[in-house]
Amino acid sequence: MIEILASFPGLGKKSSRRIVFHLLEKGPQTAFKLAESLKTLHEKTYFCLSCGSISDRDECHICKDPSRDKTVICVVENFIDQIILESTNFYNGLYHVLGGALSPLDGIGPEKLSIGKLLERVGSGDVREVIIATNPSPEGNTTALYLADLMSDFRVTVTRLGRGIPVGGDIDLLDLETIRLSLEGRIQIKKQVD
Ligand SMILES: [Zn+2]
Repeated sequence: MIEILASFPGLGKKSSRRIVFHLLEKGPQTAFKLAESLKTLHEKTYFCLSCGSISDRDECHICKDPSRDKTVICVVENFIDQIILESTNFYNGLYHVLGGALSPLDGIGPEKLSIGKLLERVGSGDVREVIIATNPSPEGNTTALYLADLMSDFRVTVTRLGRGIPVGGDIDLLDLETIRLSLEGRIQIKKQVD
């Protein structure tokens, strides 16, 4: 169990050992509870058919919410980045979860990301702005330019998160105020074509 936990993001051998000993100390009840929730994790979790986010039904609560601005889509690499942007309480549009960023060295090409679905959504008419909120890493930047290029013929403005985001940084490591400012000060990377 220590080995399995140690392979998870953010957990090393030391913290994995602490979790296992904690479970042993707590007695069987806690371990059973954890086992039960792990068993149903995949059964009770869906990916939103529209945005690709994690949901407890076919369509997530954000896509379903009539008060959200359906003319703006914010593209993120993963679910955690979406939660972080959402927790700024500043953004009221929709999201699109790509499932990663382009990284040829790791074998991640466009076919591994949810790009077709994004183009389908953007091309469907209502969308006027796409905010690309991939990480400011080389992979995230390449992905942003690639997407902007793909959307060059669409009638949308494409923007990128602006000031305050350090080069090479990770969205999930930034404070909420920085993210809010970068959303507010987003930079246009493609104009809307008529
Ligand atoms: Zn959704």
